[in-house]
Amino acid sequence: MNPVAMGLLLFISLSAFTLSVVRRFLPLFVMQPDVRWDNPKERVVGILKYFFGQLRFMRPFERVHGIAHIMIFWGVLVVTFSTIQMAGRGFVPDWHLPGFGDTGLGLTYIFFKDLFTLSIMTGCTMAFANRVFFRPSRMILSLEALVILNWIFWMMAMDLLYESTLFILSPEHPETQAAFLGMFGKNVLMGMGLSSDSSLTAQLHAIGSWGHLMLGLSFLNYLPYCKQFHEITSLPSLYMRSLKEKGALTPQNLEDEDAIFGVGKIEEFSWKRGIDMYSCAECGRCRANCPAFLTDKPLSPMALIMDEREHLKKKTNLMSQAAVLKFKKDPEKAAEVLEQWDGESLVGDVISEEAIWACTTCGHCTSNCPLMIEHVDNIIDMRRHLVQVESRFPKELTQFFKGCENLSNPWGLASNTRGDWFKDLGVQTPEENPDFEYLFYVGCAGSFDDRYKKVTIALTKLLQKAGVNFVCLGDNEMCCGETARRLGNEYLAQHMINFNLEMFDTIGVKKIITACPHCFNTLKNEYPQFGKKFEVIHHTEMIWELTRKGAFKGGAKFNGKGSVVYHDSCYLGRYNDLYDIPRDIARFVPGVKLVEAERNRRTSFCCGAGGGRMWMEENIGKRINTERFEQLYATGAKTVATACPYCMIMLDDVVREKGMQEEVEVVDLAQMMLNSLEDQ
Ligand code: SF4
Ligand code: SF4
Repeated sequence: MNPVAMGLLLFISLSAFTLSVVRRFLPLFVMQPDVRWDNPKERVVGILKYFFGQLRFMRPFERVHGIAHIMIFWGVLVVTFSTIQMAGRGFVPDWHLPGFGDTGLGLTYIFFKDLFTLSIMTGCTMAFANRVFFRPSRMILSLEALVILNWIFWMMAMDLLYESTLFILSPEHPETQAAFLGMFGKNVLMGMGLSSDSSLTAQLHAIGSWGHLMLGLSFLNYLPYCKQFHEITSLPSLYMRSLKEKGALTPQNLEDEDAIFGVGKIEEFSWKRGIDMYSCAECGRCRANCPAFLTDKPLSPMALIMDEREHLKKKTNLMSQAAVLKFKKDPEKAAEVLEQWDGESLVGDVISEEAIWACTTCGHCTSNCPLMIEHVDNIIDMRRHLVQVESRFPKELTQFFKGCENLSNPWGLASNTRGDWFKDLGVQTPEENPDFEYLFYVGCAGSFDDRYKKVTIALTKLLQKAGVNFVCLGDNEMCCGETARRLGNEYLAQHMINFNLEMFDTIGVKKIITACPHCFNTLKNEYPQFGKKFEVIHHTEMIWELTRKGAFKGGAKFNGKGSVVYHDSCYLGRYNDLYDIPRDIARFVPGVKLVEAERNRRTSFCCGAGGGRMWMEENIGKRINTERFEQLYATGAKTVATACPYCMIMLDDVVREKGMQEEVEVVDLAQMMLNSLEDQ
């Protein structure tokens, strides 16, 4: 290898790569601040699990695709050292990294380098075949992805050619002891007639080394301009992943006069969102179970991130200029520069309003994304902008917001009827029982919806049977603010949250039971953002705890129809990992034959009501609740067990629409448990 040529090659390609990376990262400096370096220990553990351990690629479904990725990922990590050595040998023949020479470590490395070269080539072949012949619906057939796979494959093939010909030219080379793949290549080539004194061998050796390096360095320079940039950004992206509770949205500081109310322009996202956009590998795992995408709504979480990334790239020059002005401590000028943008708008043009409102906030996307990209917060940021800055939202939500503002419930029913359901049940209020242990926070559905009031009453009877010391607030309860928050109306949500917190403080609440996963998630994971933490218990947890203590013995045989399928609520399961307890309750009821839907537990399919979707029209594509009901019905079960008011209402609506009330029933687990006790 010619040292001058090697020096020039490295200088030009590494300089160009550095400039490209600066070009990509500079715009991030005008994006919004975000603290993502707290708790370094947890972050490092996450890197070991999710970056080096590739944990999210080991999930049961589509494991073949995951294995192909792992084979390439680990292979590239290992082979990179060999590429560095090869470049060094352009200056000093037989140069090696410190400690790597002909020592035990060096030869062990050579063995693994060969093993991982094989692993990369096999992984690329598998990934290619997966994309072309066995492509799952989540994936797109991207020419770019196929080019990249070929690029990596041939980089490795060149390395193998280099090594094989090296061993023909230097049969006594120490690495021959460990390089099993190189020796195999040597034997094949010698079988084809190559020998140490053939000029072709020397030429092939040069082609192998230059080919590997040229392909490697050109690939490095292609990275910042293609989806493979995630090879650079995934490590920082995963290190700076969100550590907040899974079910909590990022709070908005309403007191700060300079705060931006949501996101209407790409630079109004935090810089971490920018890194996320670069990190998206276009694998489609986020949309594999997205209820909006799978029912033909105009939302694909993958397309959302890809479209934002393209928009960010279009604004790169302007944002880079603004970043430089910001470094020069001239924020006014920087803001003026950003105002010059007269191209497409983020909200409306790049991301359609239909897409923004189509999300059910089910959380599958983030939970399945190997890079842990935060789609839900991303979408809610844009909803906040639409609602709080532009006052633009689906017209049906006017009624919802009015109901919450004036009557503190989306049903728009008189707030002084909130406690009517317990008039004849002997339930006490905090005034009547100041020494209560639990507050049963009923929520709006449990107070106002006729179907879910039956669940509220069933749970009340169970608590009373078990002798639990609890109270209800009745008219003094306000909506918990969950749905208003997910609809982008943070002001309204915080108004209700603060009212409830004051009330809880006044009466001395320490433990809260709730029969709604949405209230449960918000009280448990979001109320602490406002300075108060309680022990929050979902009703299934409470029922199971009481059952384990022997409060509900010897239930009668299940009097439902056929087998039972449990539908996981997103806010109970995916956001709060409550998968087993609801199933334990169902199995406890004698005579229940529990079956599972194909999409269950972590990959359960949303009922379509979350994120405020319950209060919006669904005119595009197939209805999500119909799709989910059909998945459940396909199990042959005649009873759908739920543990969430939204799920119950949405699924029961389908049963009624289809006129299947005689055949299928939708019941809450509290009702199932109570019925089995009452039938004794
Ligand atoms: S939260 Fe659910 S509905 Fe929204 S984009 Fe993600 S997977 Fe789709
Ligand atoms: S957002 Fe995540 S899951 Fe979705 S395509 Fe990008 S990397 Fe894959």
